[in-house]
Amino acid sequence: MTDSREQSELDVVIVGGGPAGLCAAMYAGRGMLKSILIERGLPGGELLNTEKIEDYPGFVSVLGRDLAEKMTEHAKAFGAEIIQDNVEGIHRQEDGTFRVETSSGNVYRAPTVLLTAGGTPTKLGVPGEAEYAGRGVSYCAVCDGAFFRNEIIAVVGGGDAAVEEAAYLTRYAEKVYLIHRRDSLRASKLLQDRLFADPKIEVIWDTEVTEITGDPGGVKELSLRNTADGSTSTLSVTGVFIFIGFRPNSDLIKEHFDHDAAGYVITDDRMMTSIPGLFAAGDLRVQLTRQITTAVGDATTAAIAVEKYLADRKALSSV
Ligand SMILES: Cc1cc2nc3c(=O)[nH]c(=O)nc-3n(C[C@H](O)[C@H](O)[C@H](O)COP(=O)(O)OP(=O)(O)OC[C@H]3O[C@@H](n4cnc5c(N)ncnc54)[C@H](O)[C@@H]3O)c2cc1C
Repeated sequence: MTDSREQSELDVVIVGGGPAGLCAAMYAGRGMLKSILIERGLPGGELLNTEKIEDYPGFVSVLGRDLAEKMTEHAKAFGAEIIQDNVEGIHRQEDGTFRVETSSGNVYRAPTVLLTAGGTPTKLGVPGEAEYAGRGVSYCAVCDGAFFRNEIIAVVGGGDAAVEEAAYLTRYAEKVYLIHRRDSLRASKLLQDRLFADPKIEVIWDTEVTEITGDPGGVKELSLRNTADGSTSTLSVTGVFIFIGFRPNSDLIKEHFDHDAAGYVITDDRMMTSIPGLFAAGDLRVQLTRQITTAVGDATTAAIAVEKYLADRKALSSV
């Protein structure tokens, strides 16, 4: 091991360098905590997959990569140490401290860990999806809906998220097609009733998207295949919102912790999980909505709660 750090050196290990992790690192620095942030890619998280952001206060419009850079600079200005590595496991030791193991073989020890590893929207995996991401392909209605005023768009999926987001998108779009590969929806009855009553929404049953095509301006057309009879068709749309699942990156926690059915981490109002000393913030936490503002809000609470937890722990150990 080349970079193993002992328990006494670090107060907190922050896992993930998206908005939540970067905000927490900034607060940890300001709180004079000895911290490191471990990020497997470049700092910024989902901001790096987002073209334009128009709902982060103080910025009427900002490019995702520019906001990522500003957040990273801000964290570094307060002393954040960012290490590029992939965290493989977070283990609680018998003495109540944590052991954080990475793919490069490094081990970091600290009395607290803040997990901000976000999650990953499930992809359709069809040609054009990656190419048009941020140019018509979206995984977030609240984030991108306003870019599609008076346009014709599609939503893919059949669960609560797809149905709720299709209804949300009608406030902007002229028409919303809901494309579902089966002949019935998984969404709750109440949501379905609202959906069927909405004149702006048309459900396309038994259908899957096989390709997304467009031009340099963005998405123009979806290729469709009927799952019942195999027939093919096309649909002209300028946007496609994909809601077929989201997987929180909570499997890094190697002990039992409280979570919901989908694996989202349950915390208390200090952002502490059911494992004392293990905090979670941002997209992987159980909550109503997942935005940059909520991620940094969680992280602020978590970083301050970490400070208090450490102070309490120190006070207890000196009794
Ligand atoms: C396409 C898209 C557009 C969006 N647009 C907007 C918008 O306009 N406005 C808005 O408010 N929100 C938007 N969002 C949502 C917003 O991006 C997220 O809510 C926010 O990024 C969550 O921050 P986070 O720090 O919790 O997680 P993330 O941003 O997901 O960051 C998590 C980080 O953890 C890292 N990580 C994961 N696992 C490991 C590991 N094992 N080891 C080390 N590092 C790891 C990841 O690489 C990543 O950098 C959008 C999301 C998407 C997908």
